[in-house]
Amino acid sequence: MKRELPAREKMTAAPCTPGHGPFERLFRLLCPVLLCAAALTSATADPLPQGKVPPGKTLMVIQPHHDDHTWQYGFGGLIAKMIDAGYQGIYVRVSNDEKDGGMRHGWGANDIANYEDTLVATKNLGIEEVISLNWRNDHMSSIPHIELRDQIVLLIRKRRPDVVMSYNPWGNYDRNPDHRKVAWAVGSAVWLSEFEGVRPDHAKLGLEPHRVPYKYYSYRNDYGRGYHPNTFYELTEGEVARKAKSYRLHRIRVSAGAGKRTRELLDARGLRVPELDGLSDEQTHVRMQEMFMYWISAKRGEENGVRYAEVFYFMDEWHGTPGLSDYILENAVER
Ligand SMILES: [Zn+2]
Repeated sequence: MKRELPAREKMTAAPCTPGHGPFERLFRLLCPVLLCAAALTSATADPLPQGKVPPGKTLMVIQPHHDDHTWQYGFGGLIAKMIDAGYQGIYVRVSNDEKDGGMRHGWGANDIANYEDTLVATKNLGIEEVISLNWRNDHMSSIPHIELRDQIVLLIRKRRPDVVMSYNPWGNYDRNPDHRKVAWAVGSAVWLSEFEGVRPDHAKLGLEPHRVPYKYYSYRNDYGRGYHPNTFYELTEGEVARKAKSYRLHRIRVSAGAGKRTRELLDARGLRVPELDGLSDEQTHVRMQEMFMYWISAKRGEENGVRYAEVFYFMDEWHGTPGLSDYILENAVER
């Protein structure tokens, strides 16, 4: 019997057509406020191969900020899916994200508040542990690459994850310097962790080299030059709702100012969106974020022939040798 390997199912879905649903129309309307013009490109892409949860028990999500795992282009749906399949999750919050939350209470308060949000939001997805490295947000360029990389190598060797998720180390044009810094360090650390010649002093602490078999990298792929995802995961309605709730649980992100600007833009154009009537500025912002979440989930779903989806760049055990990968997938059988 042929052995089934993860994330390599043949794609059977029909090609997509660009969406023109109510969320997309609303976002076109409000685009200048939400700075999401690039998200509205309607280029039609070929459907991607459908992935499935790989075998394993430990999932490590390594992200620069408190909310990167669960924002609209993040991994929230797949994390929920993996946890429900039996994975144990660890979230590594690399920076303190002290600039998120404005200056009403100051940087220190922002750090504490978004850390607490992280505990609640990751728990909603089923992640039980948060490790905070607490590097200073927006000052990460001054951290030696090798120092950050070594921290991650140590964590990988200690916790021995089967799956690592992060921003795409080879993505293009992310304007956020923390995203670029952490992604590059994760990409290097994941590769180097398996070599005993890298930090041999770890062996004296009882930490053996560890090869991470499954890597998932994400990015916006409709912003700048983005990246090219190579797999999609179908999300259920419940998984999208859980992801949206987790994002909402990052309370520090809710901005009355953003909600107010949305209303002002509509007023200036003599427009109103009935769905937003009667909401406070904060509630308006929450509603907009949720619309964005459902819109992108539905758009990725439509592109791949399902209702909701997330897309990623996936690297399995054979990724470095694609010819061997194809050979194994076609010829490997159960012992
Ligand atoms: Zn971020």
